[in-house]
Amino acid sequence: MQYHHIFGPVPSRRLGISLGVDLVTHKTCSLDCIYCECGKTTRLTMEQKEYVRFKDVKKELDHFWQHNDDPDYITFSGAGEPTLNSKLGQVIGYIKDKKPHINVAVLTNSTLFFDPTVRHALLKADLVVPSLDAVSDKAFARINRPGKTLDTKEIVKGIEAFAKEYKGKIWLEIFILPGINDSTSDLLLLKEAVQKIQPNLVQINTLDRPGTLAGIKPASRSELERAIQIIGFPNSQIIAKVDKNIRAHIQRENIKAAIVETIHRRPCTKQDLLKILGVEKEVINNHLTILEQEGKIVGKTQERGVFYQTLKDS
Ligand code: SF4
Repeated sequence: MQYHHIFGPVPSRRLGISLGVDLVTHKTCSLDCIYCECGKTTRLTMEQKEYVRFKDVKKELDHFWQHNDDPDYITFSGAGEPTLNSKLGQVIGYIKDKKPHINVAVLTNSTLFFDPTVRHALLKADLVVPSLDAVSDKAFARINRPGKTLDTKEIVKGIEAFAKEYKGKIWLEIFILPGINDSTSDLLLLKEAVQKIQPNLVQINTLDRPGTLAGIKPASRSELERAIQIIGFPNSQIIAKVDKNIRAHIQRENIKAAIVETIHRRPCTKQDLLKILGVEKEVINNHLTILEQEGKIVGKTQERGVFYQTLKDS
């Protein structure tokens, strides 16, 4: 079965072996971040609806569970903002009913947290990773490129309200791009927001793969350390690169489909695919060659090597 809404499992930087669920169509988001690994937002919206049908996601999850080992986590992420799907709470509830031992994580841009129904939909998740890259209007506009109606103060208030209501873990993610959102005043505003939210952990991230804009560069280790120091939250960490020893031991029955599903969401190098899918190098090489010959994927040279991405109709 070729999956359209679930992908992986992948070894996540933070969660071990994680099966991804994508609840919106590519690329539907309330932001258009300049660092987004999934490319430019083509549907910039705050409208909540069933972008991907609950019954279709259920069908894919059931099929996956029948044919594969259980992952450590099921993670809502992918090519857009999961809280835009009006059935998110029901999908989480379905997973926790059927597989209570699998942890559920939601990676979200926090822009819909002002809405109590969105906050309520997340209550059954084990881990929520809200992102907050900027509090000043200027830095927010530069790094996250929102639609017109978004106000960062409302976003901070929404995350704060959620933190009070929610019993699971909150890891607040801050993405740092030098010269864009890391001035001292921007970092001090983030510090104030973090103190109000009181997450379990603050994770500082930076660019690892291509974003939507050429010319933006990742923060260096010392720039990330400076950000941690100014934000000054005791439980903070720089997110490490994927651990080379993590392998997705779960064997997918159709590696070619798994490659397409993985790079459809974010461009990957051969090395990334080796780590993510945990199969032999020759197997990856053969499938990439065939997919290129079929015109389904293309390789583009970037600083870190050749990144493969899907072509439109693959
Ligand atoms: S990084 Fe996340 S929030 Fe930003 S545009 Fe991409 S999917 Fe949307």
